Amino acid sequence: MSLEILTGLPGSGKSERLVGLVQSARDAGQEVQTIACSDSLILQGRRNITENRRMGSRSGLNTKLDRFEPLENAVQFLNAAESGWLLAFDEAQHFGPEIVNAWCAASDRGVRILIASPSHGQLELLLQRGHRPTALTLTCQKCGSKAASEFFCRMDENKTEAVCDGCYEKMKKVAEKQAARLLRKQAPHPGKKIIYQPVELPACRNWEVIREDSERRFEIVRQACAEVGLLGRESSYLDIGCNTGFFCHRMSQAGFRSTGVDVVKEDIELARLLGAYSRRDYAKYVASDAYIYLRHTQEVRFDVISAFSVFQWIMIQKTAQHGLHCMNWLFRKSKCLCVLEMGESTEDHYVKRIGMKYDSVWIRTFMETSGEFERVELYEGEKHGLKRDLFLGIKHGDEMAKPKAGR
Ligand SMILES: [Zn+2]
Repeated sequence: MSLEILTGLPGSGKSERLVGLVQSARDAGQEVQTIACSDSLILQGRRNITENRRMGSRSGLNTKLDRFEPLENAVQFLNAAESGWLLAFDEAQHFGPEIVNAWCAASDRGVRILIASPSHGQLELLLQRGHRPTALTLTCQKCGSKAASEFFCRMDENKTEAVCDGCYEKMKKVAEKQAARLLRKQAPHPGKKIIYQPVELPACRNWEVIREDSERRFEIVRQACAEVGLLGRESSYLDIGCNTGFFCHRMSQAGFRSTGVDVVKEDIELARLLGAYSRRDYAKYVASDAYIYLRHTQEVRFDVISAFSVFQWIMIQKTAQHGLHCMNWLFRKSKCLCVLEMGESTEDHYVKRIGMKYDSVWIRTFMETSGEFERVELYEGEKHGLKRDLFLGIKHGDEMAKPKAGR
């Protein structure tokens, strides 16, 4: 059978094995093509792939990446491949289950197919057709004695840690304890059991949450995402002023690739700690001032963007004009959906601090006249049990029509 499947935890050597097989086939003068999926936001974010066109393993072994292309092209190429060729798919999970038929058909014609890291969905289909994977194992990287069965992923360091069951439970507990300690220590009320956004740790169950409307706000965003067809595909989400990552986490659970930005370093530390060891949601966090981040990443766009009560702080700490720039950059940066909530200059604690006068009507008009949205929806705070009015700027670009590879 000319279809080889490599499974195993990160660090178990799947890519290494794949590169080794590719190299020896190349050395033997065979026709070899290496292929990775360009629909994947994760792979799009790897410079080694996009700029250097290399794919490789942690150990440093690497080989030329011949084709970085969307599912559709990969399927076409598979259908045209000739008997005796070797086609190697690294990080194969990103192609989704739609590619499995083409793998099997090519394999039946005598094409040698090498698949590293299939998704659960892909693996199930391959098993149904009688293909068995080679499961690579590794030893727990913590205790160094038992077999690893789980892994943690530090997105900020691009590092994974494969561990045994016992070490997994221990490390998770330690991290959660540390997170609860940090949460208690920091703003808005150091030393008290008060947090700004909800955190789902058991230790925080009875703590006071300042934004107790967080889940309601998430539900509004999730519903809007469903209406514009963003669920069930690998959509991207950016939260400006992410605090400890509540929205990034909930959006990750809804299938999004989340990125959070916040100027408060302690909040970013906490979000990273929770993301890696407790939530395990692959959300990425960036410590940056919203103005600087938006200004320097204008060409990077996201399907969904939110900024919850953050731009009034830019206006207070810098100038009103800085806040208006942020709003415009935010509007342009969203491909489909832009979620905005702002403290208004009419609120008692902001009067005289913001540097300009605006209210809800003004914000809506500002969004509408930006020309960036097909329509702007208002969720009135009072009606929906929210602390502040919530605005949704909705776009229907060509980008919406293009289906992406499922996961
Ligand atoms: Zn262990």
